Amino acid sequence: MLEVAKEFKLESNYINGEWVAADSGETFNVENPATGEVIGTVPMSGAKETVRAIEAAHKAFETFRKISVMERVTMLRRLHDLILENQEALAQLLAAEQGKPIFEARGEVGFSANYVMWFAEEARRVYGETVPSPWADRRMMVTKEPVGVVGAITPWNFPSSMLARKIAPALAAGCTIVCKPAEATPYSGLAWGKLCEEAGIPAGVVNILTGDPVAIGEVLTSHPMVRKITFTGSTRVGKILMSQSVSTVKKISMEMGGNAPFIVFDDADVDSAVEGAIASKFRNSGQTCVCTNRIYVQSGIHDKFVEKFTAATAAMKVGQSNEDNVLQGPLINDAAVSKTKEFVKDAVEKGGVITTGGNAHDLGHGFFEPTVITNATQDMMFSKEEIFGPVAPVYKFETEEEAVAMANDTEFGLACYFYTKDLGRTYRVMEGLEYGLVGVNEGVITAVEAPFGGYKESGVGKEGGHQGIEDYLEEKYICIGGLGL
Ligand code: ADP
Repeated sequence: MLEVAKEFKLESNYINGEWVAADSGETFNVENPATGEVIGTVPMSGAKETVRAIEAAHKAFETFRKISVMERVTMLRRLHDLILENQEALAQLLAAEQGKPIFEARGEVGFSANYVMWFAEEARRVYGETVPSPWADRRMMVTKEPVGVVGAITPWNFPSSMLARKIAPALAAGCTIVCKPAEATPYSGLAWGKLCEEAGIPAGVVNILTGDPVAIGEVLTSHPMVRKITFTGSTRVGKILMSQSVSTVKKISMEMGGNAPFIVFDDADVDSAVEGAIASKFRNSGQTCVCTNRIYVQSGIHDKFVEKFTAATAAMKVGQSNEDNVLQGPLINDAAVSKTKEFVKDAVEKGGVITTGGNAHDLGHGFFEPTVITNATQDMMFSKEEIFGPVAPVYKFETEEEAVAMANDTEFGLACYFYTKDLGRTYRVMEGLEYGLVGVNEGVITAVEAPFGGYKESGVGKEGGHQGIEDYLEEKYICIGGLGL
């Protein structure tokens, strides 16, 4: 059994530094997707609680924006240390509500701490500019200021680190924030409230509430006191939030869906391509927005790759988060299993050949067999849609141009990967792919030091890297005259 530590099984909202129930007293259940067991309940909040959280954040912003940067850095460093001190408890909590293997949950919590440290460091480097003045008697400068109250909505696939990417830069910039974690994984979200409280972050600066996504989302996107919306989730919901944010002209950062291609050229090292494909396809059971969705393999290496990739996929142990050597956990819910089955059925009907897996796993609940389908074609459902499950379609191609064209044949543009040893091809393909993140001979490339964000319908803005704080800052141009120069 996973241990859900009492101190992190928080069943209230964290608003204005207080732990409070929903106004109606209503709650909803949080389940372990590997067993169906109810772990506990959290508040079913709506519009009224959201308004109160926004007002608290707005009030807190008046003072928080004025404290020294070193005070904010100190708070972030304490937050970083607290995350690491509680890494095991937070990982167990995350694994219980999300289902991922415990080693991945530990990694995610560590990654959250890394984001907090990174933005604590970046807080000290929010440089402005002096601008050469066209007037002899005036001086010009550009300063940076926090945007104000931020509304954040996050998904269930990385319930800790997706909040880290938003809370840490917001605080580093001097913003305050109202967060709504996903319904499936609210405890990892509420844990941030407790950690922020213990780190001495003032009341109202970070607020976390759970509940009805539509009601909370509507208030966050329309309330005039919220100056920025940051979202990670599906393109469908991101577009709704973007359009709702129009009437009050909020700044927006959106990390939305992906449809990552993974291209293997004839000259690639097949073993490292297989290793990269396994890591990039099956991490979090295929439930990440940078997960490989389509594998394109050049004809000369195709059969060898398929043989080794199928064997590596079949060898992955599926099971509960805390079992030894487990690499694949359950999908988040039954709907995800049904959707995965639909992808497989559609592919088989159109000529796809299953080389391993293909069915719901004997373990039941959210479990699905890691699956490889060859003979994939561009008319199959997964060529256009994000699978978000452990199914790996393999397509065969002949030329470099053909591979790049097929890889770009999607409205998404988040991550892509390719394997080759040829330097010229590396540059041609790297520059030809319309994606925000490119892995060359690497299948897992996310790092706190690098900007994460998509082209096309995959998103707007960047998280992480030195760019990650910019979305939380306004630039103010100042012209000073009357200087007697
Ligand atoms: P996924 O497909 O990964 O579940 P979603 O986009 O559905 O992605 O969910 C991501 C986040 O968006 C979750 O916190 C969810 O509660 C929230 N969400 C879903 N629908 C809406 C909506 N209409 N307005 C605001 N937030 C929403």
